[in-house]
Amino acid sequence: MNDISQFTAGITILEVTYVVASVLFIIGLKMLSHPLTARRGNTLAAFGMGFAIVATIVFHRKDGEPIKNIPLILSAIAIGTAIGWIIARKVKMTAMPQLVSFFNGMGGAAAALISMMEFPHVSPELIAESGMANGEVLAILLGLLIGTVSWAGSMIAYGKLDGWIGDLRVKAMKYVNLAILAVLIGMIVFIMTRDVQASSELTPLIYIMFAIAVVYGVLFVMPIGGADMPVVISLLNSFTGVAAAMGGFLYNNQAMLTGGILVGSAGTILTVLMCKAMNRSLLNVIVGVFGGGGESNIVAGGSIKEISLSDAAVLLSYSKKVVIVPGYGLAVAQAQHICHELDKLLEEKGVEVKYAIHPVAGRMPGHMNVLLAEADVPYEQLIESDEINPDLPNTDVLVVIGANDVVNPAAEDDPSSPIFGMPIIKARDARNIIVMKRGMGKGYAAIENLLFFNDKTRMLFGDAKGTLQNLVNEVKSL
Ligand code: NDP
Repeated sequence: MNDISQFTAGITILEVTYVVASVLFIIGLKMLSHPLTARRGNTLAAFGMGFAIVATIVFHRKDGEPIKNIPLILSAIAIGTAIGWIIARKVKMTAMPQLVSFFNGMGGAAAALISMMEFPHVSPELIAESGMANGEVLAILLGLLIGTVSWAGSMIAYGKLDGWIGDLRVKAMKYVNLAILAVLIGMIVFIMTRDVQASSELTPLIYIMFAIAVVYGVLFVMPIGGADMPVVISLLNSFTGVAAAMGGFLYNNQAMLTGGILVGSAGTILTVLMCKAMNRSLLNVIVGVFGGGGESNIVAGGSIKEISLSDAAVLLSYSKKVVIVPGYGLAVAQAQHICHELDKLLEEKGVEVKYAIHPVAGRMPGHMNVLLAEADVPYEQLIESDEINPDLPNTDVLVVIGANDVVNPAAEDDPSSPIFGMPIIKARDARNIIVMKRGMGKGYAAIENLLFFNDKTRMLFGDAKGTLQNLVNEVKSL
């Protein structure tokens, strides 16, 4: 046993390290499901990935030969690590979804590149034995298709979340998308049924397939807008996982396979949960038509009533039950710490304070949980919207801080609204409603919100952080 990569007959050290890495991924993923353990879970899974990469570089053998081009590989790792590190440190919390989308797109691109590189090199012996209709070719083609769609779609999602790409909605889009998808599947069947000596004879088709898949990825995400981006981001994430898993099949690499399957299945579960939260069907997501799509019929009417800081402080301090609804504006203002200070002050006065957490509040799944965990708000105080809704009629004051779409009654009342059908926090059921925002700006879905004109609602205008600071001072002075 001269080769150090050989552990015992039949099992290589590399395979053992891949199993260890896979176990670390699974434990890490499990830990991500709770805010208290999520940070450590992330570190653990990242360590697993680092371990698998180092082990591959050291122990991988092809035809008995170790990996070549080590300096090139190490340089690429160093450059990628440096760029990732700098971007991740600099990014603002509110720009996190764009970053996630961008990184996800890079995963899809890597999977697509692997397929394009490997296609011309499918072994001629395998082709002589079973033709092009073999597992290796299928894994390559699926990796190319799914990886490219994920890359192109994620880049469009990145542009939309960053605000420089708008929505493009054409009625026939659904049929165009389905037709393109049919062409792509047709191409896979066509390539796999060709009678050739070497796969390289069909390489030009691979580039054509790549180009069509780019068009599909772009058209798939272009019409999606309004409040529906979270679902598509999570779906694209699962695509990248599946594309990476294809690479795992191709290279018989257990860590890549497990990693890909975990991302693919976690992304799919999240997509299904998001669809439920937004009341959308998965089929509609896949063909790229989403939401009511129309303009809301609702036109703002009635008058806006404001509340002074001192009245708000009195109302809150003499309540029994207060529910805070945090939203995107709380994250923009970075007002989570001062918000927690207010809730602690009120609790000291005997007021019961809970936070109503909507699954798509903010700009990324779990955004409000992360934000409030950062300010050490106890996890038990965070209540999901469907659980807190029945309690709202007994709530003395509901305080909306920088939220808009997630409390918009149009989701229940206006069938023409793009958010119609999305479950909301039923803010209007509370006895009193205080809304903190800077002005009458709209939310992400860019539609009017009649909650602000409700008889029970009073507005407290200003940046959330400054307003909360002033409110805390008022409550202290009572
Ligand atoms: P919205 O985007 O609907 O509304 C945020 C409100 O915050 C605005 O109306 C704005 O009003 C106010 N605001 C902005 N800055 C400040 C500030 N500094 N101080 C006080 N208020 C401020 O937020 P929601 O959280 O209610 O809804 C999230 C939306 O984003 C949903 O439509 C969701 O679908 C979508 N989305 C969610 C993702 C996710 O994964 N969670 C991902 C992508 C999109 P004003 O300008 O008047 O201050």
